[in-house]
Amino acid sequence: MHSNNHASIINDIELVCKKRNVKLTNQRRLVLEIMLQAKKAMSAYDLLDLLKQDEPQAKPPTIYRALEFLIEQGFIHKVESSNSYIICPHFSHPNHISILFICDNCKQILEKNNHEIEHQLQQLANQSHFMIKHSIIEIHGLCPSCASSTNLTS
Ligand SMILES: [Zn+2]
Ligand SMILES: [Zn+2]
Repeated sequence: MHSNNHASIINDIELVCKKRNVKLTNQRRLVLEIMLQAKKAMSAYDLLDLLKQDEPQAKPPTIYRALEFLIEQGFIHKVESSNSYIICPHFSHPNHISILFICDNCKQILEKNNHEIEHQLQQLANQSHFMIKHSIIEIHGLCPSCASSTNLTS
């Protein structure tokens, strides 16, 4: 992935923000750029450290406010089991159920979504008159490259 690609993702996100009448502030944009460059899940403190290179006055509440906005808008997801954050590749489709395949060895996270699973979960929720706001399914295991390296000692 090249920086051109990052710029076009940021542009797309900006368009979505305009349509929703919300503002992608400079700080929020910087956080997105950092996450796009990292290409992996990041903790709030990792993000804060990198944000400080551009915004030395940034403090933990700065990053949490930015993350909260980005989660609310569906541009990123919080990975509860590793207390980290990832960019969502399906941000223009905010009500999806995201299925995260988390590699316990290299910490790489792959997001998938599946309409059949979404449909079935929706049916289950309807049966219980439960209104789904957001849902993330976290699945732990090994990615292909870690699964194929035989000398895994843990
Ligand atoms: Zn997603
Ligand atoms: Zn792995």
